[in-house]
Amino acid sequence: VTDFGINEALKELGVKDINDGSSTGSNNFSNGAIIESISPVDGRLIGKVKSTTREDYEKVMDAATKAFKTWRIMPAPQRGEIVRQFGDKLREKKEALGKLVSYEMGKSYQEGLGEVQEMIDICDFAVGLSRQLHGLTMHSERPGHRMYEQYHPLGVVGIISAFNFPVAVWAWNTALAWICGDVCVWKPSEKTPLCGIACQNIASEVFRANNLPEGISCLINGDYKVGAFMTKDSRIPLISATGSTRMGKIVAQEVAARLGKSLLELGGNNAIIVTPDADIKMTVIGAVFGAVGTCGQRCTSTRRLIIHEDIYDQVKNAIVDAYSQLRIGNPLDENNHVGPLIDIDAVKMYERALAQVVEEGGNIVVEGDVLSGEGYESGCYVKPAIAEARPEFKIVQHETFAPVLYLLKYSGNVENAINIQNQVAQGLSSAIMTNNLREAEKFLSVAGSDCGIANVNIGTSGAEIGGAFGGEKETGGGRESGSDAWKVYMRRQTNTINYTTELPLAQGIKFDL
Ligand code: NAD
Repeated sequence: VTDFGINEALKELGVKDINDGSSTGSNNFSNGAIIESISPVDGRLIGKVKSTTREDYEKVMDAATKAFKTWRIMPAPQRGEIVRQFGDKLREKKEALGKLVSYEMGKSYQEGLGEVQEMIDICDFAVGLSRQLHGLTMHSERPGHRMYEQYHPLGVVGIISAFNFPVAVWAWNTALAWICGDVCVWKPSEKTPLCGIACQNIASEVFRANNLPEGISCLINGDYKVGAFMTKDSRIPLISATGSTRMGKIVAQEVAARLGKSLLELGGNNAIIVTPDADIKMTVIGAVFGAVGTCGQRCTSTRRLIIHEDIYDQVKNAIVDAYSQLRIGNPLDENNHVGPLIDIDAVKMYERALAQVVEEGGNIVVEGDVLSGEGYESGCYVKPAIAEARPEFKIVQHETFAPVLYLLKYSGNVENAINIQNQVAQGLSSAIMTNNLREAEKFLSVAGSDCGIANVNIGTSGAEIGGAFGGEKETGGGRESGSDAWKVYMRRQTNTINYTTELPLAQGIKFDL
């Protein structure tokens, strides 16, 4: 039996048998309970990680706050040089890390490599940005005065991430936070702790080689209780949290209670509108990859297809046909299209969703199933399913984090489809397939999609680093990665300098002594 080079990769990444889950760079220590990392690919125990205790956490925060004092005074372009080295290290480790992502999380090896590529891309983006942290200058209303704004780092940035992008989300945050002069404390998902250890090892190597203080990159491990150490900690001005809306509502309130800032990247319920002017071949590729890629466990996965009644049967048949060709199996084997769900709980949730859509009156057109037998021993492999449903079904209103695609029918003009698309509580990604300029522009207009991402003739998943990433409504409103997302990692200061011998007051106020 081939292990697809996993043991080699684990060795290269320094992910040993029992890993200390608290790390401040050169210093690894942990005293908490052991978390076992079980691969959904074959059900094997990959490694063990010790979780972070309250005492461990205090050590981490001491190291982070100390490191910030050194890091913040290093000129931003020099910090960019460190991030450049980090990106180069990721290039060296791309195959090993991509393999670990695939084995620990269950996405295909190609998608694992893609995730590491995103890390590399955000590093490149951050390096350039380290010379472009611009503020504005304004004309003062007072003579002999100069007014401008500048951006300073915030301090310690707390990062909480989800299992489904176990490495890229951390890099999206750290690469920007680091060039901004912040230091980071990361709590990865308790379902993918080894990815966290591997990333921390790579970052620490770079900081150590540059004689920089441990604590610029810190790692803590554990479940929501360890996350709560950070959300309640007023030494952390910004919490960037990626995960479910349920988690986001708790985190947002805890951070707001101490008037901290939060950057929330939460659940989606993404739809593709397919109009009578759609290119059907492109629609099928976009919809099928969107619905079954990462086994339906992307925040941008396609959950709903909103199809015009005139082409409904044609699109449905083409997609059902494409589903019959899907190969489900070990994601490290590049012949397979669909890997496993993350764990047995996720399998149960998938089964519940399929039962519920039937209860609500839906019609299953591609049956789901939990696969068993050779190659499926982990119990986490399921068949991607398709159900015909109606927009008002409760199950359609929720994010089903599994490969279940809901087909919805619309009639009349594109406004009707846009209304259905916007009728859910989430607002992450959306798309329209059409060659009709009027429909496309309507979809992108002020009266169009209410999502943070709106695409034309592309599916809902697979965003690029250059654009700001995030969504509205219950998706949390945060933006990460490209465009001016860096600003959230900094505090803005407005400065007015008087270079005269008078002290005129603003608004012409007279105050004579
Ligand atoms: P989850 O909410 O269960 O967990 C996410 C992280 O939050 C984990 O690290 C977890 O330990 C932590 N956490 C949970 N409750 C917490 C609390 N009360 N305080 C502090 N930390 C807490 O999510 P998941 O199952 O790992 O990931 C899937 C979800 O993430 C989906 O809803 C998906 O759409 C979403 N997601 C969103 C984006 C995005 O960018 N919008 C990206 C990836 C995933």
